[in-house]
Amino acid sequence: MHNRSTAPLTYVIQQHQATRLHYDFRLEWQGVLLSWAIPKGPSLDPSVKRLAIQTEDHPIEYANFEGVIQLGKYGAGTVMLWDRGTWLPDSPDVDASMRKGHLDFMLHGKKLHGSWALVRIRGLKTNHAGSSWLLIKHRDSYASTMDVTKKYPRSVFSDRLLVEIAHAAEPE
Ligand code: MN
Repeated sequence: MHNRSTAPLTYVIQQHQATRLHYDFRLEWQGVLLSWAIPKGPSLDPSVKRLAIQTEDHPIEYANFEGVIQLGKYGAGTVMLWDRGTWLPDSPDVDASMRKGHLDFMLHGKKLHGSWALVRIRGLKTNHAGSSWLLIKHRDSYASTMDVTKKYPRSVFSDRLLVEIAHAAEPE
């Protein structure tokens, strides 16, 4: 199914301090957010491939969430909207790309731009969580050796740091 004449597809990265700090990379597709957890976050350097563990699809509305998930709930911890914008798959058949384990796409975020790939490296599972992928920046004018997670640590929604979001949620 293609998406050529419909609304732009949402892309979001949420920095998530759970048991371990990671970045949740999410791409809207067919009413859900395809999701990967990236322990080290994205790199703009095409020679640096970042491990991305596929996780459960999330509801579209979650692309707007920033705040604290209470202890005991799924994903407990602090969530920051680290980047948000739209994405465009190179091939309109995203389902086929996901089955194949190779998705090429453009990002139009506030922090991340240009051409990227997600490539599955292990596991034969297709639409299930737990398979390992790599997030890779393609060589283009947005490629860089600048450390984007260090240079731009704040929320694109609230301009807050993760620690400020956590503190704001604490009872007085
Ligand atoms: Mn997470």
